[in-house]
Amino acid sequence: MMATTHALIGGAVVVLLTRFAPEMTPIAVTAALAGGVFPDLDLYANHRKTLHFPVYYWIPATLAVLVVALIPTTTTVAVAAFVLAAAVHSTMDVFGGGLELRPWLGTSDRAVYNHYRRHWIRPRRWIRYDGAPADFLLGAVGAVPVVTVTDGPLRTIVLGAVVVSGVYALVRKHLPDLATVIASNLPKPLRTHVPDRFVDVE
Ligand SMILES: [Zn+2]
Repeated sequence: MMATTHALIGGAVVVLLTRFAPEMTPIAVTAALAGGVFPDLDLYANHRKTLHFPVYYWIPATLAVLVVALIPTTTTVAVAAFVLAAAVHSTMDVFGGGLELRPWLGTSDRAVYNHYRRHWIRPRRWIRYDGAPADFLLGAVGAVPVVTVTDGPLRTIVLGAVVVSGVYALVRKHLPDLATVIASNLPKPLRTHVPDRFVDVE
């Protein structure tokens, strides 16, 4: 799924959780947007393994939520929202596509790495690939509760994420060709740093 989808779903989750403390919603949403994107920062370094923890994130996430129940401050809320969104992201990736360059072909058996069991979880493909129409729709649905309770720059960021998702979804299937052209034209020293899946040709 797209990083923006993860951010928007993370935002929606914390909006539901902060319903009874609306003054905490802006900080929670901001932290959840960041935490929802965070795991995908490993895109160029063992993607869906280095910063994705579909099991282990749930331990600090649960503890952080318990801490909020005892000590509800902006800091504890922000930490809980960030880690919770990262946990939701890592688990959501199980239901997306695989790691291959063209995930709509369904050839990869790697969705996200399970550090606890030390193996790759296979993709369930409920959302067939990142940037699929269903992926865009999921993010847009997630944006609805977030938009209704935010305003100002935060709301603009949320709406901007929906627009970025839409543009990405429109061009998604052209990106592998672009990536392989760029990767094959890079000077050799740089090309060695490009992950294999970006130089993978059909
Ligand atoms: Zn991910």
